[in-house]
Amino acid sequence: LPSKLPQVGTSIFSQMSQLAAEQQAINLSQGFPDFGCSPFLLEQLSNFSQLGLNQYAPMPGILPLRQQIAALIARCYQQRVCPEQQITVTSGATEALFCGIQALVQPGDEVIVFDPAYDSYAPAVQLAGGKTVHLVLTAPDFRVDWQQVADHINERTKLIIVNSPHNPSSQVFRHDDWLQLERLVCQHGLYCLSDEVYEHMVFDQRPQLSALCFAGLAARALVVSSFGKTFHVTGWKLGYCVAPAQLMAEFRKVHQYVTFSSFTPAQHAIAAMLQQHPEQVSGLAHFYQQKRDAFVDGLQGSRLQLLPAEGTYFQLADYSAISDIPDVEFCRWLTIEHKIAAIPLSVFYQTPPAQRLVRFCFAKEESTLQQAAGVLCQL
Ligand code: PMP
Ligand code: GLN
Repeated sequence: LPSKLPQVGTSIFSQMSQLAAEQQAINLSQGFPDFGCSPFLLEQLSNFSQLGLNQYAPMPGILPLRQQIAALIARCYQQRVCPEQQITVTSGATEALFCGIQALVQPGDEVIVFDPAYDSYAPAVQLAGGKTVHLVLTAPDFRVDWQQVADHINERTKLIIVNSPHNPSSQVFRHDDWLQLERLVCQHGLYCLSDEVYEHMVFDQRPQLSALCFAGLAARALVVSSFGKTFHVTGWKLGYCVAPAQLMAEFRKVHQYVTFSSFTPAQHAIAAMLQQHPEQVSGLAHFYQQKRDAFVDGLQGSRLQLLPAEGTYFQLADYSAISDIPDVEFCRWLTIEHKIAAIPLSVFYQTPPAQRLVRFCFAKEESTLQQAAGVLCQL
């Protein structure tokens, strides 16, 4: 069978988590918490299911959840979005990204992505018949060169995919990045897919910004987020997309035939959580900043050189003082010989640069982080 995605293999996240399990290693590779979610959320899930809310949800998501999402956007960004027309609940951010790309990208269109890029963007563009144009962000600050972006826009360019806070670099867009993006999108009549799944994890009192904060950009943007990240339930696969009504109508045509709707009891549980425990969202940055700081402190004596982590739950480290082997090999060695699993950065690039960087996930109990740091300090 001729493959539609010939270059796609098993994702690095599955590979490393499997190796970590086989090796009984501490898994700091795939991004997910090793601690539980709020007991309130679990009670709500069970309650709504017991109440019999186990059939199809409405295609765009249950209205109370969409209303809570609109309220969250108003609290975080002081922007009004219409729950009926501008919000759709999806089965994780992954589904939202996929549907957004299928809705926008036509055969022959070019899509600008920034490497290192999250792994689900390029295959979705390819399935839509589009072509990704990869611009490289370089360590240690991984800033976008907007002049370079402008230089790569042509009549085939349709979409720019951005991700702030950024996985895997942990960098956060400045106000000026958003302005430059808005200028290019509006000037050239492009669209923007803004992956904001780590939106509530921005550290050190940096402002939390969204594409939704910039009117010109918001008018041409699909904004994607994930409750998996926000409420420590990555396995629930619940996320959403926000877009202007006309764009959302196209998005829903795809969503309708990809999944139709998402897990009903979880939608009710998350709506109750957002309404009754807004502090879980507003306190998330502090919660993860403490974890970042504990991990960084634990690595004080190590030969790893840590890069600044401004957001997300990932920490990058340069291991060149420890070894000169390529990062994929280094991660296998670290997992097998030292029982710590991490993600090599080269897998996030179309053409990996010569660098020695790995990504650790610090969404872990402090005891896990301490134990891991203890081992890493011995390298
Ligand atoms: N985008 C980015 C940048 C991510 O890191 C992730 C999750 N790892 C996703 C999208 C997918 O989110 P979800 O698990 O809600 O599908
Ligand atoms: N987003 C998670 C990460 O970056 C992985 C999600 C997945 O396994 N697909 O680690």
